[in-house]
Amino acid sequence: MTHHHEVVEALQQIGYRLTPQRMMILEAIADSEGHLSAEEIHETVRTAYPYLDISTVYRTLDLLKTLHLVSETDLGRGPAQYELLSKGLHHHLICTECGEILDAPNSLLDSLRHAMSEEYDFHAEIEHLAVFGICSNCKGDAQEAG
Ligand SMILES: [Zn+2]
Ligand SMILES: [Zn+2]
Repeated sequence: MTHHHEVVEALQQIGYRLTPQRMMILEAIADSEGHLSAEEIHETVRTAYPYLDISTVYRTLDLLKTLHLVSETDLGRGPAQYELLSKGLHHHLICTECGEILDAPNSLLDSLRHAMSEEYDFHAEIEHLAVFGICSNCKGDAQEAG
């Protein structure tokens, strides 16, 4: 429950009114350990606010994304996943075999950012990257199998 205060302040600073629905959507995301899909956010908020429309969830998520408060990532498991950016920038390495998701610190991409800026004079804004591949466990299995 510590994260949403920052988000509330950020919204108020840029003049957005925090309606009860927006507040509950934010809290649902802030209280979640990992990532939530729009449907999961909808389900969570509806336990307290039964008349919430899924289109309101999508509109609010679009707003929060535009404000860089929430990130949207395709983790390769169906619907896009949402997460508060105030939790700190991080990225995910996702195994396409077993579905394992490894969290990687933002610093993992430092050399990539540096290379893009040196070679292309391009400033990359990578907030939440999902990289697909094979984890060490599954790589081992494949080798054992021949
Ligand atoms: Zn994430
Ligand atoms: Zn794996």
